[in-house]
Amino acid sequence: MTTDQEIALSIAISFGVIVLLAGLGATAIIAIGWSEREENNAGETAAALPPGILIKRALARTCPICGRGAMFSSYWEMRKVCPSCGAQFWKNEGEWVGPAVIDYAVAAAVAVVTWTVLAFAGANWIVQLAFPIVAAFASGIAAIPWTRSLWTLFLFLNGEMGSRQTPPA
Ligand SMILES: [Zn+2]
Repeated sequence: MTTDQEIALSIAISFGVIVLLAGLGATAIIAIGWSEREENNAGETAAALPPGILIKRALARTCPICGRGAMFSSYWEMRKVCPSCGAQFWKNEGEWVGPAVIDYAVAAAVAVVTWTVLAFAGANWIVQLAFPIVAAFASGIAAIPWTRSLWTLFLFLNGEMGSRQTPPA
């Protein structure tokens, strides 16, 4: 094993441990939100919906409440309210920070994995530098709609998602 490969492997392993811990943390947060769903304002709706349906809606990027309204008007553009039931997706303007951190983590993880593979493949240093950067940008950008969708599900489970709005008279 060359020095490059040793460094790449140790970084990849430590990164794997961080991702594992973050995953456990996220699972715990969602589990807490799930167990408390009956006590919050989204409780009635969330309690009636099986987890499978909610995950399916999150992956389809549709409204967690009604499952019909598309959360995005284009690949990038997220709507403020559900076009079908009028529920407000994010009550708080600052919510973009949560998904942005996840996007960053996805990009960093992909960069480390790409670099590890290239180091083991014996790629030259230009390839080892360029490919992980490109892969990080591409994956970070590709993750955007899904991290926002999952974040909305998380808000919904915690009762932090806006309720249905009656259109202004
Ligand atoms: Zn809806």
